[in-house]
Amino acid sequence: MYLQTLIVFALVFFRSDQLRGDSSAGAREWLWACAAVAVLLMGISALTKLATKVALRRMGGVGGDLHDAHHQHHRRMTAIKASLLIGFGVVLYATPWPIACYGLTRGPWLRIASDVLLLLPYFGGAVAIWALSHPVERAFREEGGEPRMESGAAAHGFSRWGFVLFNFRFHILVVALPMLLILFTGNLTRGYGAWIRRNVAPWPFTPDLLLGAAAFLVFLVSPLLLTRVWSTTRLEHGPLRDRLEAVCRAIGLRCRDVLLWRSDGMMINAAVMGLLAPVRYVLLSDGLLESMNDRQIEAVFGHEAGHIRRRHIEFFLLFAFVAMLAVSGALELLLILSPDLSNTTLELVGVLLTACTWGFGFGHVSRSFEREADWFGATCVTPDAEACALPCAVHGSRPCVEGARLCTTAAAVFASALDRVALLNGIEHEDFSWRHSSIGSRMRFLMALAADPQRLRRFRAALRRIKAFLLLTAVVGGAYALYYCLYREPLLLRAGSG
Ligand SMILES: [Zn+2]
Ligand SMILES: [Zn+2]
Repeated sequence: MYLQTLIVFALVFFRSDQLRGDSSAGAREWLWACAAVAVLLMGISALTKLATKVALRRMGGVGGDLHDAHHQHHRRMTAIKASLLIGFGVVLYATPWPIACYGLTRGPWLRIASDVLLLLPYFGGAVAIWALSHPVERAFREEGGEPRMESGAAAHGFSRWGFVLFNFRFHILVVALPMLLILFTGNLTRGYGAWIRRNVAPWPFTPDLLLGAAAFLVFLVSPLLLTRVWSTTRLEHGPLRDRLEAVCRAIGLRCRDVLLWRSDGMMINAAVMGLLAPVRYVLLSDGLLESMNDRQIEAVFGHEAGHIRRRHIEFFLLFAFVAMLAVSGALELLLILSPDLSNTTLELVGVLLTACTWGFGFGHVSRSFEREADWFGATCVTPDAEACALPCAVHGSRPCVEGARLCTTAAAVFASALDRVALLNGIEHEDFSWRHSSIGSRMRFLMALAADPQRLRRFRAALRRIKAFLLLTAVVGGAYALYYCLYREPLLLRAGSG
């Protein structure tokens, strides 16, 4: 739901920009706005209740497949969450709710209060979804839906509001807090735009540049914030931590800490965050540690480390930059060709182009990077030659050495970890994931890389091409954009500020 929340904030950001002038709503508009919000919340609640009822009946039915019912339920919940996003978009752009909210505050400093109020229907809808679907998750656990329940995890409390709070922190706050900081800064740079242009630099885009710099700063330090939003604690000293620290040394990974991610066993997940080592954390969830053996944990840890060592975060940032250049370049061209285009049309085209660039481009890059991290994670669990029981053409190479071929045993350990993640999270092997691709295809791909060093070489060459392309287009495109902004008069900026 992170992506969805990010989209929500982007929508609010643009809507707020459109309503920058004084806005105020009368009683009639308030009534209509509140009615729209109420319809949205009631609709989402009704859908969730219905889905919960259906899922509970299927799970309780004789001969019903518990896992299948749970899986179908998750699909329906994904659709309901998408409806919440669409419904909120309608409230934002087709009802006076934003006008009513922004009418309540005056001045750039207080505008953030209106932003928060504006967002409440989305937050409320999300809370309703979790609160009302909680019985399904509880039933799934009570029926022994998760194999790891046997290992004592059943003792975890699983109250409705604990579940809601966990999900709210996990899915919403983690995006919302940094985004609210950026929104707040945006209100200031927009509100004091004229002053900034007069006193900082006279370009029309100075306030936007400042905002971009502030957003980057928020991004840099956000791990410090996120470790507090999520409930985390230092991973205790012991054999596991020693092994993970040994992996860090072997691959030259520097981070501030390895954290245990507390979720009352609700989550089987690992993550890494932080561009810079002093604010970089690797997180391993309690559910993951409870349900996997040390080799598998090491493999998952290696995957997360791979994201850092292969510089995926940096390349994602480059992607965002290149995508922004490409979309604004296309819009600029469109304006040159037909100068009379209305702002609304321009925004619509911009949204469509952005959706395409990210949908196809980012999806492809992200899936490739996941596979590279899988490969990296597998190299981190390369065993000694004696311990490698499978037919393996590779043995003898040191673990995690660049360019090394992939050990079949190591690939199998990694694939087993992936398999476990799928099983415990109730994900089908062939479920497509836009960001990660399906677990089944990742397992097959990794085993194929181990079996065929030629394929591994081709795969790594393809990754080098992706990264070189991003780097080159960012540098060349960035330089040209700078030249264009300084020495020509970009129509886009005039349209935006006009
Ligand atoms: Zn990953
Ligand atoms: Zn081997």
